[in-house]
Amino acid sequence: MRTAVFPGSFDPVTLGHVDIINRALPLFDRLILAIGENSRKKSLFTLEKRMDWLQDIYQFEENVEVKSYTGLTIDFCRQCGAPFLVRGLRSTLDFEYEKTIAQLNRSLEEGIDTIFLVSEPKYSHISSTIVREILMNQGDATPFLHGKVATKIMSTPIVQQ
Ligand code: ADP
Repeated sequence: MRTAVFPGSFDPVTLGHVDIINRALPLFDRLILAIGENSRKKSLFTLEKRMDWLQDIYQFEENVEVKSYTGLTIDFCRQCGAPFLVRGLRSTLDFEYEKTIAQLNRSLEEGIDTIFLVSEPKYSHISSTIVREILMNQGDATPFLHGKVATKIMSTPIVQQ
């Protein structure tokens, strides 16, 4: 079984993530959407909410699992028996950053390869950071959110930590 992990903060999940996930799905038998919990990186939304939204979008997709993890992503991949990591690329900035992480991961664990999918041009300007900024300023983020969860995300009270 070909298993891949798509790690991220998904704070919140955007159409950019959904595009990458939908295109990764046919490539693998099992795709684990993995929310990394990092004590130094404060999120706007709780882990439970971020997991719920991913689960809502993919509830009928039997090859998708939503999980959370702490620690190194490659350790989580090992635990899941996943030899592949999926990441999305929006720009050369993403590329430079992701290349370093992918090479670092390879030097720590040779058995895991990172597979990059390049964003569709129509989604390449979308980021969770922009969506958070819009939400924190009471703007309308629905154009950047999946229809199944847009209302839920828009109506979630924001408690700044
Ligand atoms: P992280 O905090 O690890 O960057 P994110 O949740 O922001 O996690 O992103 C997870 C992955 O999704 C990353 O590989 C990121 O490049 C990718 N991604 C996010 N937004 C987009 C987008 N609009 N198009 C393509 N890939 C994207």
